[in-house]
Amino acid sequence: MSTYLWVAIAVVVVVVVGLIVWSLVKRREPAEAVPAVLETVAPVAPPPAAETEPEAEAPTAEEAPAEAPALETPEQPASRMVRLRRRLASSRNGLARALGDLLAADKLDAATWDAFETTLLSADLGVGPTTELVDGLRAKLGVEGTSDPVVARQALHDDLLALVDPTLDRSLNLAHAAGVPAVVMMVGVNGTGKTTTVGKLGRLLVAEGQTVLFGAADTFRAAAAQQLTTWGERVGVETVSGAEGADPASVAYQAVERGVKDGVDVVLVDTAGRLHTKVGLMDELGKVKRVIEKLAPVTEVLLVVDATTGQNGLAQARIFAEVVDVTGLVLTKLDGSAKGGIVVAVQRELNVPVKLVGLGEGVDDLAPFDPEQFVQGLLGE
Ligand code: GDP
Repeated sequence: MSTYLWVAIAVVVVVVVGLIVWSLVKRREPAEAVPAVLETVAPVAPPPAAETEPEAEAPTAEEAPAEAPALETPEQPASRMVRLRRRLASSRNGLARALGDLLAADKLDAATWDAFETTLLSADLGVGPTTELVDGLRAKLGVEGTSDPVVARQALHDDLLALVDPTLDRSLNLAHAAGVPAVVMMVGVNGTGKTTTVGKLGRLLVAEGQTVLFGAADTFRAAAAQQLTTWGERVGVETVSGAEGADPASVAYQAVERGVKDGVDVVLVDTAGRLHTKVGLMDELGKVKRVIEKLAPVTEVLLVVDATTGQNGLAQARIFAEVVDVTGLVLTKLDGSAKGGIVVAVQRELNVPVKLVGLGEGVDDLAPFDPEQFVQGLLGE
């Protein structure tokens, strides 16, 4: 009996020891695999400071992050304005509200027209365009007439579209000879969204298949060059920048020079927008433009206007338009504006078409301006 017991114990011991040995062997296999994976990862991590090669290795380390992130595919231009239309339709935009109230009125009496006129003015449409719109609609719909909603809506749509003016050429002039890039200068007061717009426009052009280079000539604001570099890296656009406080014209020149060398289609040049004195501004922007034009013609000067700044923004825009030949307007922050009439006002005021609109802080929130989509958005269509 005790012999059987001893045999049983021996068998159990052998089995247990066998299991322990087997599990240890099994565990070693993955344990060996781990260092293999780590080894392939390890060299990518920054080496300890003591082992870093002196100066010579530094540029390689700096270039590495530019290659690392996968390039993004920007949204195609066509769908962007559709997004704006939806955004306008869903917002309580002052202009949209005025139009909605008029359409909802049972009777178009004097009080309704007065209220309509007041709301249009407070939506930054400007006195001239407001008078034109009210007079035109009164003539069409009748002073005391009851509005047939379909007729009223169509009349509003047509008159508003006429004010925004669908006949203006809103395309960006990016024509360029072989080996010479088109150059776009972005100008405007600081804070209006210039740098952001350069970044967004770069993406828009990349989406259209153009090769682009950024020139960070806003050397006044320390963060502007880094901001642009970050925008560019996401879509494979390089940025030429100078030291903080460097001469903006020299950075612009270097950027265009590089653009010629690399054979890019478009160089987008950001500028500083200090409104110190009109003469100072004129000197600075004039110099940037003159210097660029030693290498390539400036095909577009885009003035960035913040839609939320109303009359003040218009006054500042006027100063810029006096010192440089503005060829197109970019109206930013239309998403944050409770108004919207500014599109018509600024265009009238400066006699330059709105070519692009900023619809938000997102990377693809910049759209080629489309009057029809804009009006449809305002009318909630
Ligand atoms: P800059 O000084 O003219 O270069 O202005 P920035 O490009 O630095 O922009 C100033 C601020 O405006 C930033 O916070 C941007 O994100 C914001 N911004 C620019 N465009 C738009 C836009 O279309 N909509 C909104 N909501 N914000 C914008």
